[in-house]
Amino acid sequence: MTTTRFAPSPTGYIHVGNLRTALMNYLIARKAGGTFILRIDDTDPERSKEEYVDAIKQDLEWLGLTWDRVERQSERIDMYVDAANKLRDAGRFYEAFETPTELDLKRKKQLNMGKPPVYDRAALNLSDDEKAALRAERGDGVWRFKLNQARIEWKDGIVGDTSIDAASVSDPVLIRGDGQFLYTLASVVDDTDMGVTHVVRGSDHVTNTATQIQIMEALGFDHPEFAHHSLLTGPQGEALSKRLGTLALRDLREQGVQPMALLSLMARLGSSDPVELRGDMAELVDGFDVARFGTAPTKFDVQDLFPLTARHLQAQSAEDVKSELDALGVPADQQAAFWDVARENITTLADLQQWWALCQEGAEPLIADEDKDFISEAMTLLPEGPYDADSWKSWTTAVKDATGRKGKGLFMPLRKAVTGMERGPDMGALLPLMKVVRARG
Ligand code: GLU
Repeated sequence: MTTTRFAPSPTGYIHVGNLRTALMNYLIARKAGGTFILRIDDTDPERSKEEYVDAIKQDLEWLGLTWDRVERQSERIDMYVDAANKLRDAGRFYEAFETPTELDLKRKKQLNMGKPPVYDRAALNLSDDEKAALRAERGDGVWRFKLNQARIEWKDGIVGDTSIDAASVSDPVLIRGDGQFLYTLASVVDDTDMGVTHVVRGSDHVTNTATQIQIMEALGFDHPEFAHHSLLTGPQGEALSKRLGTLALRDLREQGVQPMALLSLMARLGSSDPVELRGDMAELVDGFDVARFGTAPTKFDVQDLFPLTARHLQAQSAEDVKSELDALGVPADQQAAFWDVARENITTLADLQQWWALCQEGAEPLIADEDKDFISEAMTLLPEGPYDADSWKSWTTAVKDATGRKGKGLFMPLRKAVTGMERGPDMGALLPLMKVVRARG
């Protein structure tokens, strides 16, 4: 059965980049009728925070990316210990004692000599006595996986045939000196144990994939299918890494972005399919194919989310946004009429507030000098409210007859006097919702 997972580390809020990964894995699972696992990669007790675990779940729930199963790496340490023992028994695991400074120095020397900065495996030559002495002096070493220095090849679901020379990669550290298991091993164990069939993640993980394929082989496991999506850049192609902090999903929610707008964009951006606003998740699942994504960096512009949000809102009924209308204090019997008037004139739901305030309190009139007399005369022709569906028509007809103005010269100054704005909802529909017209005096 198709099984995918989204595996965030709970060390911060998740952002659009993470969403891309989560969504691709989610859609693959849903399309195949399979299982989507939320795996919390919390092997680092210092950096992992419970508040981020909760926040990640809230963010995914907000978007409707529901998981079938949740797992936490911190509860699975025994399995990682077993896997480490297996690697040790197989002669693929060795302890190394270099300090970060020493490693840094080695890297610099290699680079100076024009060589790739790959760990030189000096620790493999340590005798038992030397190791004991180093352990006594420096504490436990790190444990490195001994790569087979061959080419590692796989057919990537996005990139296609991929081949990495293991000799160009350092033997990965799988256990830190303080005993902490690192993600590289934990992920291999989990992906196998949980029956993960497809792993989609960012192209920054390609080297991890190469080493993980070898670790899986060493443990006697088959590897899942891998696909590496390109990384997001800003609209001009600039690196997004520094700005991702401001593109947290919760910030977008705060700014009023609607889930379907965000999902519609992220499920197609960077693929050969056009970005179109979709009505629900089923539509997104339907047309999704990870193979349609390209390898070029994917430009992301947060501004694209707002027109999609506006269009999504325009397609909603008053019933769909009832909680927002209630919160604004729109009486139940006016909600449908108010929503009809307002929805064409908002980008996010927060904009409703200004239109409701206009209905309740009226607006400071906007009157050009040359229109002063015209407006004074027009206002004497505006009866007292409440207004109905015909009020605007009959009023403007009366004003036209009295002043001889017509077209834009008639309607625009009236709109500005009544709403304080040059643009906005259909006046015939708006006027009946207005309690006060301040320009009436
Ligand atoms: N915790 C890892 C990350 O967030 C997971 C990577 C993976 O999908 O294997 O980068």
